[in-house]
Amino acid sequence: MKRLSILAFLILTSDLQSQEKPLRAGVAEVDVSPKLVEGKPVYVAGFGHNRKATAIHDPIMARAVVLEHDGKKIALVCVDVVGLFHSTAEAVRKEFPDFAYVLVSSTHNHEGPDTLGLWGSNPFVSGVDFAYMKKLEAGVGKAIKDAEAALKPVTARIGTIKAPQLLHDNRLPNCLHDDLVVIEFTRIDTKKRQGVLVQWNCHPETLDSKNTQISADFVTATVKELRKSQECPVAYFTGTVGGLMTSLKVNVPGPDGKPLADGTFEKTEEYGQLVAKQAEKALKDAVPATLAPFDIRTRAVHLPVDNKLYQLGWSIGVFKRSLFAWEGTPYPAKAEPIKEMPKRPALRTEVGYLKLGELEIAVIPGEIYPELVIGQVQDPADKAADFPDAPIEPAIYAQMKGKHKMIIGLGNDEIGYLIPKRQWDTKTPYCYGLKKEQYGEINSAGPDAAPIICEAFAELAKRKK
Ligand SMILES: [Zn+2]
Repeated sequence: MKRLSILAFLILTSDLQSQEKPLRAGVAEVDVSPKLVEGKPVYVAGFGHNRKATAIHDPIMARAVVLEHDGKKIALVCVDVVGLFHSTAEAVRKEFPDFAYVLVSSTHNHEGPDTLGLWGSNPFVSGVDFAYMKKLEAGVGKAIKDAEAALKPVTARIGTIKAPQLLHDNRLPNCLHDDLVVIEFTRIDTKKRQGVLVQWNCHPETLDSKNTQISADFVTATVKELRKSQECPVAYFTGTVGGLMTSLKVNVPGPDGKPLADGTFEKTEEYGQLVAKQAEKALKDAVPATLAPFDIRTRAVHLPVDNKLYQLGWSIGVFKRSLFAWEGTPYPAKAEPIKEMPKRPALRTEVGYLKLGELEIAVIPGEIYPELVIGQVQDPADKAADFPDAPIEPAIYAQMKGKHKMIIGLGNDEIGYLIPKRQWDTKTPYCYGLKKEQYGEINSAGPDAAPIICEAFAELAKRKK
């Protein structure tokens, strides 16, 4: 009896000690802009081919948040580029073997250098400069090191605000994921702000398809404004952008009250300011939150690549990533990368679920449709859809029961759009009586991508650690 109570005492005190250990946070950023040199074009990613950069308007940054608790370190990084394959996350992770988790994501910027391969001089050549990719990886590593060097004991507050006025959905059915999330870290010793993390769900593409000046789009203005008002480093992350969440066609009035035009730096800057203003509002109402201990869960997932353009891109070397043969399961016992195109190829990616104290974060490796995040998949499905009877995928946010939640899209990979299977629509007649196919499927691995990713996430969130 006596021994038992001593044991109970020991467990209790070690529990208290772990709670007493403060969270430490550091935020840092590193400029990873490409160099523009004569005779070596930098291809701008996101819209058509052969968009050669003519100038650098504002820098492409890698921004890192490092958190540490009880000897466990994690890094969350976001880069102002269109997307980064899983191999980039793997390369960066090798440099940080003492970290419990490293996440490398991107904002999905449509005005920066090609980092995936799709936007070269023509559809048959990659637009990626591999020497630049090395520089980008080194920049990501430096951002993590700088954030780690800045670690200080902090308290945290979290705020969430809805900002539907800052989004346009350009694909039916209409569905927005309009939660903007901010996390503020305050130093325990000086009571000064140590950093702010902002997460919003929108394609950075306000400068549109004709711009040839390298830019991080509206994110530059958002970060600049917040850095000024909060007097601390700021990290920006992209969440749900499928379906398609865009700033194009969003009404942003200029000084004369008239809407600013898409494709202009005026609109881009003003939109970025509006995002920052929402973040400031969310910060005003933010509540104290405990962000430790850390429970990190990840899972490697295979999914079939049925998109013929992706298959072709791989065959001709436009896409540089390992492909596998689809084995009929997302979790094959063993799988070797293939050399020749199999009947049904598959890609390997990773899904993540992070529980940081009272905050749950979904890490999704692509551009997920809002319907799948907030649980609004069309029901009943439009009868003209290709798979109207497909089961509804388990919604991402329905799996997260904690006090605060957030999503990081393009997390550790960019595998394209994740479309609710029953909204997949490539065959005539088209849904909603439309005459033309809607945009989306052409940039998705296939109709089975979303069901596999959503199931994998639900399983991870339920798993006992
Ligand atoms: Zn996109």
